Amino acid sequence: MSTMKHQSLNVARHPGADAHSFSARKFTGSQSLWLDEIYGNGTPARHPLFGADKADVCVVGAGFTGLWTAIDLKRRDPAVEVVVLEADRCGSGPSGQSAGVVGTYMPKLSTLVQRLGTERALWLARESAAVRGWLGTFCAEHGIDADFTQHGWLWTASSKAQLRAWDETVKYAASLGEEPFLELDTEEIQARTGSPIHLAGIIDPQGARVQPAALVDGMARVAEGLGVRIYEHSEVRGIDTDRGRVTTAQGAVDADTVVLATGAFSRVPALRRGFVTTTSDLVATAPIPEELDASGYRECIAIDNSRLSMTGIVRTTGGRVVFGSAGAALGYQSRPTAPFNRAEFDRMMKALPAFVPGAAGAPITHAWSGMIDKSVDGLPSFGQLPGRTKVLYAVGFSGNGVGPCVLAGRMLGAMALGVDDEWAECGRLMKGTSVYPPEPFRSIGGSVVRAAVIRSENRKDLGLKVGTPTRIAASLAATSSWLPAGE
Ligand SMILES: Cc1cc2nc3c(=O)[nH]c(=O)nc-3n(C[C@H](O)[C@H](O)[C@H](O)COP(=O)(O)OP(=O)(O)OC[C@H]3O[C@@H](n4cnc5c(N)ncnc54)[C@H](O)[C@@H]3O)c2cc1C
Repeated sequence: MSTMKHQSLNVARHPGADAHSFSARKFTGSQSLWLDEIYGNGTPARHPLFGADKADVCVVGAGFTGLWTAIDLKRRDPAVEVVVLEADRCGSGPSGQSAGVVGTYMPKLSTLVQRLGTERALWLARESAAVRGWLGTFCAEHGIDADFTQHGWLWTASSKAQLRAWDETVKYAASLGEEPFLELDTEEIQARTGSPIHLAGIIDPQGARVQPAALVDGMARVAEGLGVRIYEHSEVRGIDTDRGRVTTAQGAVDADTVVLATGAFSRVPALRRGFVTTTSDLVATAPIPEELDASGYRECIAIDNSRLSMTGIVRTTGGRVVFGSAGAALGYQSRPTAPFNRAEFDRMMKALPAFVPGAAGAPITHAWSGMIDKSVDGLPSFGQLPGRTKVLYAVGFSGNGVGPCVLAGRMLGAMALGVDDEWAECGRLMKGTSVYPPEPFRSIGGSVVRAAVIRSENRKDLGLKVGTPTRIAASLAATSSWLPAGE
């Protein structure tokens, strides 16, 4: 008898999905700018699954991971029958809420080497770097208007305490023959960002960004063009791993293989210890291209500073600024975390003019929050759940999923079809073995550490001393959700 019989999967309503108040009395945030641009005009949803369907592979979740997997499966074998079940709309989770920066594995190379060994890690990191150009071509070939730009990714120090935070990463990559970053002098950084807050930094000139919900929307259409059947508003309630049956409220799909691509919403007990749910909060300004141009922030460079509780900035082609920071909330038992709150919004509003002087006083049109599935070492885990039916999963992208999910789709596609190639091999080896402590230590301890990191970094940025209890608590932090600072 399978222990996974009627495996229960739950999905929570996405934080801040349908509320629109920035008032001090009733702050509720809004939908993400990107999802608003795609779905705000009332585009009808795909119909839910009613009754029975049958497939070779049933993908659960239509974010980047699920849809790249579906596309990869059809490209490898056009005859394979693929069904995608999505609880909400395609991309309505973190994929359509993200900042859209197409990150690579280069900043995480040393951790990747620990997982895969040097040769395979280098191969995968190079593939992740190649994703940027590949994505641009994918969008162009399929007529997807996802505002893809490739003007570079800047990793900066916005305080003296952050200076040279990238040194170890750059040196390590160079020791393996990789030199993806260029050092910029202070004058050039300040001129290109339009902000004197950046004291130093390095640039990956190939860095890219997208409108992530537009990309997901385009991917869904490409997948359907290849013959994939996508059902929206079809939350999976259970998987019978003996019969290979995936059940929703109004229907069921019989499949030989199931791919769980449910990201931070993954509720399978076997996966829960491998990640914690944290938040990331973003605000978007109204279009202010003239002001940004006048300040010097003319290109769509994506910018991140070197804090563990990172501050990130992107400029869209239309001249909006999307400004984000890591939230302090941590979900109990990796459940959805508390949404964006007024205090965090106020803190970000205070910081915005220093990071983007051109956006000082600009109207804020959107403020939203999304969940990050943070693994112990900051890399995703792949694997197969026990049971008679092949149930594959990928979880723990740790805030760096826009680019890496392309690779995840290739790995899951190969693993689902039982192909013996380098993607399947990497997927098998990308099994994270580290787990977080059990509850309640995980969420209580994690919240204390996370709050200490933020407090410590705030004080260091101001040149103030950090008290001993805060310093000790902050030193317990796991690696960053994105940058390897603290490794
Ligand atoms: C605010 C924010 C900013 C970010 N910025 C960046 C960035 O700039 N660059 C970057 O690389 N990464 C960024 N990330 C991380 C990135 O968005 C994620 O790593 C990536 O989108 C994960 O994709 P996914 O497909 O694995 O998961 P998701 O996007 O979470 O997709 C999972 C899907 O599964 C569905 N689902 C869940 N449960 C069920 C169920 N039971 N039945 C059916 N469907 C279900 C959900 O509705 C969802 O659509 C950011 C994340 C957030 C929250």
